[in-house]
Parts: sequence; C-alpha cells; structure tokens
Amino acid sequence: MRMSKLLMPTLREVPADAEIVSHQLMLRAGYIRKLAAGVYSYLPLGLRSLHKIEQIIREEMDRAGAQELLMSALLPAEAYQASGRWEVFGSNMFRLKDRNDRDFCLGPTHEELFTQTVINEVRSYKEYPMTLYQIQTKYRDEARPRFGLIRGREFIMKDAYSFDKDEAGLDASYQKMYDAYCRIFTRLGLDFTVVDADSGAMGGSGSQEFMVKAAVGEDGIAYCDACGYAANYEKAACIPVEKAFPEGDAPMEKVATPDVHTIEELVQFFGTEPHVFAKTILYKADEKYVAVMVRGDREINEVKLKNLLGCVNDPELAAPAVVRELTHAEVGFAGPVGLDIDVIVDLEVAQMQNFIIGANETGYHFKNVQINRDFTPTTVADVRVIEPGDKCPKCGAPVKSDRGIEVGHIFKLGTKYSDALGLSYQDENGDSKVVIMGCYGIGVTRCFAAAIEQNYDENGIIMPVSIAPYHVVVVPVNAKDEGQVRVAEQIYENLQNAGIETLLDDRQERPGVKFKDADLIGIPLRIVVGKKSGEGIVEYKLRTQAEAEDKPIEAAVRDAAAYIKERL
Ligand code: ATP
Ligand code: MG
Repeated sequence: MRMSKLLMPTLREVPADAEIVSHQLMLRAGYIRKLAAGVYSYLPLGLRSLHKIEQIIREEMDRAGAQELLMSALLPAEAYQASGRWEVFGSNMFRLKDRNDRDFCLGPTHEELFTQTVINEVRSYKEYPMTLYQIQTKYRDEARPRFGLIRGREFIMKDAYSFDKDEAGLDASYQKMYDAYCRIFTRLGLDFTVVDADSGAMGGSGSQEFMVKAAVGEDGIAYCDACGYAANYEKAACIPVEKAFPEGDAPMEKVATPDVHTIEELVQFFGTEPHVFAKTILYKADEKYVAVMVRGDREINEVKLKNLLGCVNDPELAAPAVVRELTHAEVGFAGPVGLDIDVIVDLEVAQMQNFIIGANETGYHFKNVQINRDFTPTTVADVRVIEPGDKCPKCGAPVKSDRGIEVGHIFKLGTKYSDALGLSYQDENGDSKVVIMGCYGIGVTRCFAAAIEQNYDENGIIMPVSIAPYHVVVVPVNAKDEGQVRVAEQIYENLQNAGIETLLDDRQERPGVKFKDADLIGIPLRIVVGKKSGEGIVEYKLRTQAEAEDKPIEAAVRDAAAYIKERL
C-alpha cells in the first residue's frame, strides 16, 4: 500500500478523553474513531489488525473441531423470555420494537439462540459432541463504557457453545477449548494467565478466565507462587486470618460515639485497631433486605453474597432511607443486635472476641460484643474479598495480587439452558436425556486493545507481527531523489512478491514525520532508503530495537521476509 493513498489520520496530541494507553494510541495511530460512548469505527489500519485477530481465532477454533456459523444481532425476545434473561439483563440490554410492536433486542450473548438452533436442527444423538461458534457483534448497554475497546457498548465477541451427551463429554469439549484459547492468546502476542472464575448462582460446575496482566485491568487476580493457584478476586475463597482480640468476659456495653462514622474515626476514638470492629452493611437482595458483617479492615465480596443468597439481580447497598427505617439510626451506626432482618456473618467475624459494632442508635456503638451471646447470626459464610497476604486457599502460603483484563471466559454451563429451553436427546436405548452445555467467549475487540496495552513504548504501538496491520514499511528519505525512490519501489515490490504486507511511504513529508508515523502505528520492521542506497546499502530497523543496522539491499529484503514469516 502506498501511504500517499492510505487513510491514516495520525494525531500528535493525546486525545483528552482517552484515559489508558491503548485507547490513546489507537486513536492517535488512526486505528479507530469514537462515534458515541463505547461505540467505535475501525479505520483501515485498525480493521486490518482486527481481521487478523479474528482469523487467528477462527483458525484455532476450526482446528479444535468447532464449526463456525453466524447469527443475527437483531433477536426476537422469545428465547430470552423463556430462559428468564429478558429480565436478568435489565438495563444492560438494548431493546427495541418492530413496527408491529414485537419485542426485539440487540444480542448481548447468544446461549439461548444456539440452544434453540440445536433443538431445531440436530436430529440424532450421534451428532454430539458438537461445538458451534460465531464471531459477531454484541451489544451491551454497559453502565460505564470506558477505556476504548476494553469496555464497549458495541463490541465483537467470539462466542462458542458445546453440546454433549454427558459430563465426561463436556469435560473433553471444555479441555479442547482451553487448549485452543492458550494457542490463540499466544499467537496474539498476549502475556496471559488463566484464573478460576465465578460460575454464578445459577448452576455451572466450573469456569475459568483468561486474563491479560495489566495495571489498568478491571479485575483483581489473587495468585500463589508456591502452588500455582490463581483466581479472580470475585471467586477466590478466603481462609480466616487469626488476630488478637481484647480478653475477658465483660458484658456488652453501649458507648456514646458522637460524630464518629468511619472505621478510621472509630479506631481513633476507641484507641484500638481496625480488626476489632465488625461493620454491618445492609443490602437489597432482589425483594428482601439483609445485613452483612465483615471485619472492619475487610471488604464485602458482592459476588459471593449474590451466590450465597441465590439472587437474580446483583445485590445493591440499601438506600439511606431504608437503612434509617430498618436500624432506627443514621447510616454509620448499623449493627446486628435487635435487627429484624437476616444477618450474614463472615467466617472471620465468627472468630472475633470482645469486638465493637454499631448499636442501631445514632451516636452509639456497643463494645465487648460476643457472637452467639449478644446476637445470633442467620448464616456464617465466606463473604469477603481476598487480600494480598491472605492464605492461599489451596496450600496456605501467602497470596499475591495483580490486575488483569479478562479477554476470554470458558464456562461449564451444565443443563441451565437445555433445561430452560428443552434441549434433550434420545439415547441408543430410547431414553430421554438432557444435553450438557459449555460456553466459551473471547472479547475480540478487547484483545486488540489488550495487545496494545502490553506492547508499546514512548513512541507508539509495537504491534506483534501476527496482528500488525502491515509487516514492513519502506521509507525513502528524500521523495524527490529519483535514485532513492527507484530503490524503495524495488524493495517494496520484492517484499510484496515475497508475500510480505508492505507499506511504501511515498508521501512528500520530512523524514522525521515519516519515522514518527511508522513508530506510532507500530509497524514491526522499517527499511530506510537514504544516501547510501546508491552503494546498495539500506537501513534495517526492528520496531522492538532502538538501533538500526546497515544491510545490503538484497539481504535486507531476505532478512525482512524471514523475520516476518517466522513470526506469523
Ligand atoms: P466483564 O466482566 O468484563 O463485564 P463479562 O464476564 O460480562 O465481562 P462475558 O459474558 O464472559 O463477559 O463475555 C465474554 C468475553 O467478552 C469477555 O471475556 C470479554 O473479553 C468480552 N467482553 C465482555 N463485555 C465486553 C465489553 N463491554 N466490551 C468489550 N469486550 C467485552
Ligand atoms: Mg466473563
């Protein structure tokens, strides 16, 4: 491609509303443009990379025996109503009506539709196991679209669904996807880890996420160097950590604590440590309210809470007015004593002695509290967020923490959708059995951003060869020098003949501008045709290296082709 003809609107300035590097660089490199919050267009360079990412995914899915099909993004409501997800998705789903007032949505994910397809089209149990997939645009009206392609409202997903006769079949199908995912993310040039993930309240026997480690990642990962355990914070099981508490068996005592609200203020007031307090937080869980207690120095894990309660919607903090009504006190003084709703107590709280809690009376706390003497919990369970230094749930060594971007998610669904929609088969004895499902997603556009988040320097993007929009850029230093232009044209043609995707920077620009653009857009290899080209010498520079080296023209072409082909 001749760059004089290429639509490549690079920007020198960092766009003001782009918070993270990948988003800034994709805009600056002219890869993407924003249309609305979480909605983007792909310009020519960006689209080339996107197609390559899709192709790598496609090749590995096909290799794993999955079959590609394509469904509509515009979906009738019925299947989602049958599974109950028409309600569950709430305001995350884009909904619309056709001219006859029929309900439709823009598909956020397609479990229902694939299940329906298998119900309609598969004739015999002999067709299982079967894994179907598509690479398709998804729509989710995210509460906080941000970070460019990382969290969009329109994004491309590869979604796959496996259908098996039994659990053993599901295990095998799942393992195939796991292996395919490892190959895909490796080929995309991503440094990733696999973590145990939450399977949600509604069934499913196991689930793992593929995380790209990045400081800007929205997910917390707990991992253990000693045994290799790794899990999403949402999922990581917490083992209670023992602490020292005040001794004695004094009765519970009400203490006036005027103007004391936060744990920090309480610590100051009582002259003790945060772990001697238990905080009581009120949640709205579907239609009811519950109180949840964790140690003062801990955080509540709302995903664990949701699973424990088996609620449909995410638990939400109770509104201040409700807190006032239920505790008869201002926010900040809630406690379990005399409270008329279920009290869920974290495992660690169950071990506390002589601790301090809110008194359900504005301006008062109780001290010397003993669990099961002064109040009785409804449930004792693990409902807190793991923290660095906590014991690994597998081996007990201290865990570390990291941040990650979830690029893929594989999930043993079991019979959730086959039960809901009626997907069964008759086995060889004529007995009716339910089909066992798995589902497997990759955020295609999110992978694109993640690859850049992991591969850049102060000059711009450093695209992995496998997904770079072009492989090599050939730059004549002086576009008016006929000799240079001739050599550059020759190299351009030779590289293209060798199957290397090449840019020729034939623009009437200063060399500095050309070099800056080549670095910004992240082309893996640059060949500069300057004064020495008269003697048959050109400059050869990898995007990953600071220094260029001189090479004879033929060697430069040969080495470039070899370098690229090795990495495809
Ligand atoms: P998240 O927790 O990040 O919201 P999710 O768990 O809801 O994601 P899944 O339903 O598992 O997402 O979707 C499969 C994959 O699609 C995810 O692993 C992620 O890579 C990608 N994905 C999900 N939501 C978005 C989004 N809003 N923008 C871009 N990619 C997304
Ligand atoms: Mg997920």
